[in-house]
Amino acid sequence: MRLHGKVALVTGAASGIGRAVAELFVKEGAAVVASDIAAPKQAYSSGIGSVRLDVTSEADWAAAVDAVVRDHGRLDVLVNNAGIIAYEPLHELTMDAWTRMIAVDQTGVFLGMREAVRVMRGRNPGSIVNISSIWGSAAVAGAHGYHAAKGAVRNMTKNAAMTYVGDGIRVNSVHPGFIHTALTNAQAADLNDAVIASTPMKRGGRPIEVAYGCLFLASDEASFVTGAELVIDGGYLAQ
Ligand code: NAD
Repeated sequence: MRLHGKVALVTGAASGIGRAVAELFVKEGAAVVASDIAAPKQAYSSGIGSVRLDVTSEADWAAAVDAVVRDHGRLDVLVNNAGIIAYEPLHELTMDAWTRMIAVDQTGVFLGMREAVRVMRGRNPGSIVNISSIWGSAAVAGAHGYHAAKGAVRNMTKNAAMTYVGDGIRVNSVHPGFIHTALTNAQAADLNDAVIASTPMKRGGRPIEVAYGCLFLASDEASFVTGAELVIDGGYLAQ
């Protein structure tokens, strides 16, 4: 019951890491609102409410956060997890593809943090967890837009942490390495094999292994942690 009494909103919760976060948080005593643009393949566990939230939409964000506060009285934890990936190198990246990537992976985090801060400030201290990536602080070839957005999320996290430290709002980023989800299942097998081969633990991670890191950051156990980067990558970035 590490989140007993807390109210949490998770984006991109219909699958993968977000789903694992939502399920773990409810098991640990939180009231969880799972949000996504897609419906989950299997129904959420009881105790998890759901709302349709396109993270690129200002109107969706305002409505979702207002609904959480109306239904639960407060928002304690926001996990900005929704994300997409694409592989175009810089010289092949169209304006449309760039704009789409930035909208989901970067602007979605900006809007989410802004809405969370709106209802947390002056009311209750809270925790914001932003899912970045190992590609937020290191590079592989290609995927230029993804690197841009995930790198921005890393620094936006630190800025928000500094700006709202006096309000008791903690803001941290999580940097997963290769995790087995729909996102990576859709990638070329040789790309996946190469990333796993470069991972010191020689395996991909499971969504729950990222969810446990989010749980720590969301809980009061992390009361002295803000502006931090939690790397969960089987040792990849330590090389
Ligand atoms: P996933 O595809 O399983 O889940 C992503 C979810 O985000 C999906 O349910 C999708 O419907 C949702 N989503 C997409 N666009 C959305 C939008 N506009 N609004 C709301 N929801 C939207 O992928 P995942 O691997 O679980 O990824 C979760 C996060 O973890 C992403 O931010 C991703 O970049 C990050 N990440 C994943 C890995 C990995 O190896 N899987 C590694 C590093 C970082």
